[in-house]
Amino acid sequence: MRYFPIFLDLDGQKVLVVGGGEQAAQKLRLLLKTSARVCVVAAEACAEIEAAAAAGRLELQRRPFRPRDLADVRLAIAATDDEGETAGVAAAARAMGVPLNVVDRQDLSSFITPSIVDRDPVVVAIGTEGTAPVLARRIKALMEPLLPARLGMLARFAASWRTSVAERVRDVGARRGFWERFFGGRIADRFLGGDVAGAVAELDDEIDRANVEAVGSVALVGAGPGDPDLLTFKALRALQEADVIVVDRLVPKAILDRARRDARRIEVGKNPRGRSTPQAEIDAILVREALAGRKVVRLKGGDPMIFGRAVEEMTALAEAGVPFEVVPGITAALGCAATIGLPLTEREARRGFTIVTGHSTDGAAEHDWQALARPGQTVAVYMGVGAAPHIESRLLAVGIDPNTPVTVVENGTLPQQKLALGTAGRLVETLIDGGIKGPAIIFIGAHPLPRPCAARTPAHLSDRIDTIHAEAA
Ligand code: SAH
Repeated sequence: MRYFPIFLDLDGQKVLVVGGGEQAAQKLRLLLKTSARVCVVAAEACAEIEAAAAAGRLELQRRPFRPRDLADVRLAIAATDDEGETAGVAAAARAMGVPLNVVDRQDLSSFITPSIVDRDPVVVAIGTEGTAPVLARRIKALMEPLLPARLGMLARFAASWRTSVAERVRDVGARRGFWERFFGGRIADRFLGGDVAGAVAELDDEIDRANVEAVGSVALVGAGPGDPDLLTFKALRALQEADVIVVDRLVPKAILDRARRDARRIEVGKNPRGRSTPQAEIDAILVREALAGRKVVRLKGGDPMIFGRAVEEMTALAEAGVPFEVVPGITAALGCAATIGLPLTEREARRGFTIVTGHSTDGAAEHDWQALARPGQTVAVYMGVGAAPHIESRLLAVGIDPNTPVTVVENGTLPQQKLALGTAGRLVETLIDGGIKGPAIIFIGAHPLPRPCAARTPAHLSDRIDTIHAEAA
């Protein structure tokens, strides 16, 4: 990050704009929303600027720029067509240490201005350090409909209650809970809907509620297979509201980056090679943190209800009387299937999709192998890399067609995703040839469709898929 994002207090400060054309007028439209003292220096000014000057909203000096104009200036903007004048402003600003923006000349500017979504006093600033202004505008367009028009008024309404709430809700944690419910619940809903009296009534109730002893809660949240864009909105909201996040070591940093920054993180979890936190200890942490009144997120890879020890955690929470909810996530098999273009069912040809684990507490898991070997279905094996020799020999023993297609995806949806393609009769070889170490999903019963159907598959994987299809033909 080369540019540091800040909001600068311009109240009563002098701001200088050099230039009187359309570009200057554009900059002035935003500047005049602040309570800065705005001064424009320009030999000639357009009608809009003349009008603002006539209305006393800015001071207009009808003459060329002089270095002395920068005295006591907090911020300067050069928006003049005259290159010589621009160079003069840039040199003087640099010499006098005045922050300067030169329109369309990032090289001469010591600051640049972001794209903004304006719900004054709520302002979202979007910057790309000048690399992609169009991208910034697209992000702005995405955000506009997300932020209600009355959001700024809601912020002012909240500010007008801040002192009174601080007096009536003494406990800091309870107060933070109150403000969470203020913005995330009925108070904001009413206010944004225009019902101010209703909002005030809700506010009184909510203050009373905040003073009843704070109870924490736990959300078992699915983080999805790894790509942060595959988080659900609900998961994102839970992550942003959490006081404490209890997280598996396998959850990528890119996902944790989306969590509330000052949330406390407790790393736990299953590490096949390193230290694992015993499940009972994890259960105890969840109960302890929630009973202390905190909002706890138990963040798990994929979906919490699939091979995620949800039973133990939910039982422990229920026994301790801690309220909890489950936020589903995209399970690994679904994420992997999507990125490589492998439909999990197929009309008539594959009528079902089964999820099994390759691993159990005492080693390789046992299953009804006869059922898993039957054609006309897709089986996704989780935690199956270590158990591959066992799976291969069991399937062959019950007479699986050794040519049954097998697809293996390691680190699915992540940049380091790997793909291996083979057959049930050569399962172990397929893993070895593909350099697969896990975490991986082994799909038995299907290969990905050829390239045009998997348009978003990374090129090196598409090539592999093409080769397989060419060999089969
Ligand atoms: N609750 C998780 C599964 C936890 S068990 C879910 O719903 O996805 C851990 C196993 O999930 C791993 O051994 C591996 O088989 C699978 N897995 C998790 N993330 C994966 C990924 N990004 N790519 C491939 N397999 C993954």
